[in-house]
Amino acid sequence: MSEALLKDKFSRTIRDLRISVTDRCNFRCFYCIPDEDIVWKRKQELLTYEEIILVAKIGVGLGIEKLRLTGGEPLVRRDIEYLIERLARIPGVRDLALTTNAFGLKERAAGLREAGLNRITISCDSLNAETFKTITRRDGLGEVLDGIEAVVNAGFEPPKVNCVVIRGLNDHEIADFADFAQKTGVRMRFIEYMPLDNGHQWDRSLLVGGREILSKISERHSITPINRDSPSETALRYVFSNGAAGEIGIIAPVTMPFCGACSRLRLTADGNLRTCLFSMVDHNIKDRIRRGDDEAAIREFLIDTVLKKEEGHRINEADFIQPARTMSFIGG
Ligand code: SAM
Ligand code: SF4
Repeated sequence: MSEALLKDKFSRTIRDLRISVTDRCNFRCFYCIPDEDIVWKRKQELLTYEEIILVAKIGVGLGIEKLRLTGGEPLVRRDIEYLIERLARIPGVRDLALTTNAFGLKERAAGLREAGLNRITISCDSLNAETFKTITRRDGLGEVLDGIEAVVNAGFEPPKVNCVVIRGLNDHEIADFADFAQKTGVRMRFIEYMPLDNGHQWDRSLLVGGREILSKISERHSITPINRDSPSETALRYVFSNGAAGEIGIIAPVTMPFCGACSRLRLTADGNLRTCLFSMVDHNIKDRIRRGDDEAAIREFLIDTVLKKEEGHRINEADFIQPARTMSFIGG
């Protein structure tokens, strides 16, 4: 492991940088992005690939080991393969991953692998075409299923599949997704719905807690807990007790917060560092790069920013305030 120089006030070490490469998306998941009147960032507001690479390089020099590209939809940013190639070559990067809605992934999976990407996570909230369309406001289930197959065919390990569970919409599909994991070998990640939605419509009544998700799976399958790969891993993990392929993971930031072991720092597409998904402040790194700060100054800025990392989110506190930026702007 490289020397850990990014440490916060609560003795947590930052090893994981999530890079949002665009705020744009070809889906309109209702819990993430508005359906109309979207004001996208202009091209000149976004970090260039060279600027992203600079921040990543400096971060890796300070102990970051994992990079994840996200968005918005990372595959809609032109020539993302070029960025991947360059990031993969930074000495010290142990893991380079991408989170995608999988639209158009079938045609690009092999190229992404060739560029040096290690892992792909695919989002899929329903196995029913109509429900999928209700959630994403796009007809895309076939593309997602093809994308999952293409990822495996391209030589990646079976992908993680993110499913945000929303009461009354897709919670009746939880056990079906477990069947799907067995059939395809994917690693399901059931995620609690978080108050980061564009319309501020999040409501606790729509939240399906991690324990309830587990009990719905247990109605059909016997599952056995397994250890996390690292303490900062967000998912509680399970395998099927009958030895079947696939895996189940529960990501429960609301009902079982994991802030105490958080190792993440985020870089938004428009060049701001965020120390928590639920931060109320951005730390503008773009202006520093563009005014010509040298690498030593950017390094100091990263170190100082990490010292401002919040102890945890405050979703369960009475005075919790939802951040203005949604997931598509922060980078999930
Ligand atoms: N467009 C890509 C995708 O959908 O995979 C990457 C970006 S997306 C913001 C990353 C992840 O955040 C997705 O799995 C998405 O379901 C999740 N997400 C977005 N808004 C959320 C919310 N309010 N609560 C929980 N997860 C959310
Ligand atoms: Fe787009 Fe991903 Fe947000 Fe859905 S969750 S709108 S696919 S960024």
